[in-house]
Amino acid sequence: MPRADIVVYNIGELVTFMDGPLARVSEERAGIVREAGVAIRSGRIIDVGPSGRIRSSYDAETSINAEDRLATPGLVDPHTHPVFDGSREDELTLKVQGVPYSEILRRGGGIYRTVRRTVSASTSRLLELLLERLELMLRAGTTTVEVKTGYGLDLDEELRHLEVVRAAFGKARQLVVPTLLAHVPPQGADARAYAREFASTLVPEAASRGLATYVDVFCDRGAFGVEESRLILEAGLRSGLRARIHADQLAYIGCSEMAAGLGVDSMDHLERMPPENAKLLASRGIVAVLTPTSILSMIDSPRPPVEALREAGVFIALASDYNPNNMTPLVQTALQLAPYVLGLTQLEALAASTVNAARSLGLDNVVGRIAPGMRADIVVWDAENHKWLGYYWGFDLSLKVVAGGEIVKDSE
Ligand SMILES: [Zn+2]
Repeated sequence: MPRADIVVYNIGELVTFMDGPLARVSEERAGIVREAGVAIRSGRIIDVGPSGRIRSSYDAETSINAEDRLATPGLVDPHTHPVFDGSREDELTLKVQGVPYSEILRRGGGIYRTVRRTVSASTSRLLELLLERLELMLRAGTTTVEVKTGYGLDLDEELRHLEVVRAAFGKARQLVVPTLLAHVPPQGADARAYAREFASTLVPEAASRGLATYVDVFCDRGAFGVEESRLILEAGLRSGLRARIHADQLAYIGCSEMAAGLGVDSMDHLERMPPENAKLLASRGIVAVLTPTSILSMIDSPRPPVEALREAGVFIALASDYNPNNMTPLVQTALQLAPYVLGLTQLEALAASTVNAARSLGLDNVVGRIAPGMRADIVVWDAENHKWLGYYWGFDLSLKVVAGGEIVKDSE
């Protein structure tokens, strides 16, 4: 009898997304298998099928009884900023009292406050904080996570943060995708000159040392303009990095339109994207990464044009956008809020935080699906079926988490 490291059996409903990313999500296309089982060997899924057959076909070292519950691919969080020190809890009070962000900045708060704390933190402290955060995410089902730099705002400091992310590889138990982010120009600096330096020195250095998979830029009013952002993204693509962009969050200055022509894998936020731009994303297969918790953290943010994205056939993904201004480390929270904040169905939200998020990272043949050959990332939920995700919410609904073939959480 063939050997398996783990067999998960008695899965009441298994949502596999075996056919890949979905722009139009339906139960028929989600690859749902009832009374299912999954066999795992050497960190990979080797078989998926009826529970009885899977159980009787493998000599399993460990068996997990899902007791008729829901199982899904491990969650993929394609947009986080967890390399930082310090906190900004007092700014929430100010935001709720209607104090504008420009005034918070003027009082020494906002992003530059996080930068001051982060640049003075030791490398071992930043690594320790990052690993704690990744472990918290993992135990709530985040088995793949993209990690951005962006609180250095100095070329050497950004490289130090990339090295922290690299040090987390191998120590963290989930798959980590490193991104070099041009977040905002340093305080008082000339944005154009900083963007030029970032593009001509930092981007090629990070690429040649293998420290980043992606380059990203915060293209917006108060951050980098369209031409500065283009410079940085083009430098990344020329250096062999892949590209993604923070676009159209605070104002529409043409970022999504510019980036559509460059070959980015994802456009993130899009709260102020004109609905007609959805066609640009659809025609190029660009994933729209939406961030319901950061919409709420902004207090008065509009919603992205979800209906236009859906109609145009754009792949929609969800992310936590975890950062000190939006202290929400779990993409599961985004999944739970998506029906209420974005109008996604529970199944759309699940596709958006698994297979579609994997597509946004160029990893949909590695994670985000349950099919033979994929990395063995599985979550068993305290739920009968996928419609409970978002319906029963406000706490961590995951019971058991398998990441890379390792059982990292096993609650009853
Ligand atoms: Zn962000």
